[in-house]
Amino acid sequence: ELILAFESSCDETSVAVIENGNKILSNVIATQINSQRRFGGVVPEVASRHHIEQVTICLADALERAKVDYQDLNAVAVTYGPGLVGALLVGVTAAKTVAFAHDLPLVPVNHMAGHIYAARFAGEIKFPALALLVSGGHTELVYLKEPNSYQIIGETRDDAAGEAYDKVGRVLGIDYPAGRKIDELAHQGHDTFKFPRAMLKDDNFDFSFSGLKSAFINTMHHADQVQQQLNQADLAASFQQSVIDVLVAKTMHALRQYPVKQLILAGGVAANTGLRTALGDAMEKYHPTVTLLKAPLSLCGDNAAMIGAAAHVAFQAGERADLTLNADPSLEFDWIK
Ligand code: ATP
Ligand code: MG
Ligand code: FE
Repeated sequence: ELILAFESSCDETSVAVIENGNKILSNVIATQINSQRRFGGVVPEVASRHHIEQVTICLADALERAKVDYQDLNAVAVTYGPGLVGALLVGVTAAKTVAFAHDLPLVPVNHMAGHIYAARFAGEIKFPALALLVSGGHTELVYLKEPNSYQIIGETRDDAAGEAYDKVGRVLGIDYPAGRKIDELAHQGHDTFKFPRAMLKDDNFDFSFSGLKSAFINTMHHADQVQQQLNQADLAASFQQSVIDVLVAKTMHALRQYPVKQLILAGGVAANTGLRTALGDAMEKYHPTVTLLKAPLSLCGDNAAMIGAAAHVAFQAGERADLTLNADPSLEFDWIK
């Protein structure tokens, strides 16, 4: 079974051809990072224009690299939310056009389900599973009772983890997106600042990163006022350690209440080397019988391969959209199915 998948929710235009939900025949990604960098973030209008320019090029490239033609395909899948409405619309329109022109079923995919299913390329998903989903716009613990079922059991009350990385990066003078640079810098420093770890003692699975961000910015401002030079690597290491401690502790807490076969780590921030190591260590120590499935490093960020993997499960479950499918910028997971 071959699925053609489109992703255009933010600043990556991507088209992939996926076989049986777990084999990548092609995964073409055109990123706008270089043009968005000078704005210090993603400008929606700029993003839409880039997607329009890139989507047909990516489509042709994806089919060519996969060595398949339209008549080989079984379905077309597309991210229809959450994300930027103008950006999403480009992928949705492209997918609808292909589905209509070639009489193919259309499978609607939630971008966050896609992130979770990036882990499918690291191994089979065993249910029930818990996913720690950390990205630029989301920080969630998602319970997957069975395939195609997603229940959010905890989430951030303010900033997402990736958002905190990017905001802290801005004060450090690091280009957007700052996650990877801060990660690298953190390895050269130590947790000397001991920033706060929010909501650790609370008996829930929610997160908060805005206090950490404020503590970080206040520390920088204060040092600035007294003309003191702070060690950038120590700042990065302290920030990162606080994020990791909270993510790991909350996940361990959730696993005690939700016995699962597998823990999935996914989303853009899942590329964080410190987090990958710390979560692996904690799992060995506290939940040695639960397997840890980490999204492959190269598939943590936005891409269409992960959309194709999630679409495979939805397609098998009979999920279809018709040509009235619209972008839903604030799409959320359905409560338990
Ligand atoms: P969402 O998926 O919530 O809609 P998004 O698609 O913009 O948001 P992703 O592409 O999943 O987000 O992830 C991008 C985020 O990941 C950015 O905030 C970036 O700084 C962060 N990131 C990337 N690499 C790392 C890393 N090594 N360490 C920490 N953060 C990272
Ligand atoms: Mg992106
Ligand atoms: Fe994303």
